Amino acid sequence: NQPGPWDPSLQRIQANEMTCRASGDTSGAGLNRYPEPQPAELIAHLASLYGVTPDNLLAGRGSDEGIDLLVRAFCRAGQDSVLICPPTFGMYKVSARIQGAGVVEVPLLKERGFALDVQAVLDAWRSGVKLVFVCTPNNPTGNLLERAAVESLCEQLHDRAIVAVDEAYIEFAGVASLKDRLEDYPNLVILRTLSKAYALAGARGGALLAHADIVRLLARVITPYSL
Ligand SMILES: *Cc1c(COP(=O)(O)O)cnc(C)c1O
Repeated sequence: NQPGPWDPSLQRIQANEMTCRASGDTSGAGLNRYPEPQPAELIAHLASLYGVTPDNLLAGRGSDEGIDLLVRAFCRAGQDSVLICPPTFGMYKVSARIQGAGVVEVPLLKERGFALDVQAVLDAWRSGVKLVFVCTPNNPTGNLLERAAVESLCEQLHDRAIVAVDEAYIEFAGVASLKDRLEDYPNLVILRTLSKAYALAGARGGALLAHADIVRLLARVITPYSL
């Protein structure tokens, strides 16, 4: 199910919008009209900001929406699971529980500065684990995960799970995003947000960077007109 074609020069009657504005509506596009789903201009800006092509980017209401979409699109309730590496950001587990997905926990290695335990993640993987969430720099511990470790996970899980790398704080770390590896790892998803480094938490702007097939799939699951 797709919304009708988006062309501001056409009268769109299929959405049953009121054709005139409410009194006091001084907005640019008119609040009587539904907004453009995945607005092309916003997508182009975010794609250039994050250095990907528009096909590789889905815009959402913060990266929290990206997390929720991933779990809903890839985990069947009562059957599939996500894998997380605590201590880490709480929303991965919250979204999984709401969806009815299981949560497999593989702790970060405290004695090694909260490093990612790649072997333990691989050992804990079992059929039905569809998503592995890692956060770098990690919230709440603040450390970066080794890039080679994250890439190794993508490589070794390539036919088994999506590896979602939450880069909410990457701007503060002075290291490159993993987005340059999207071509190499079709199971890599990167979450970016305007909420932290850009001081725009109230604007609810986030982006999910991934293979175009994943972006297209999630665009069919996201609430229409959410932006
Ligand atoms: C704050 C935060 C987010 C969520 O940010 P949004 O405002 O939803 O974009 C995602 N991940 C981590 C690790 C965070 O700390």
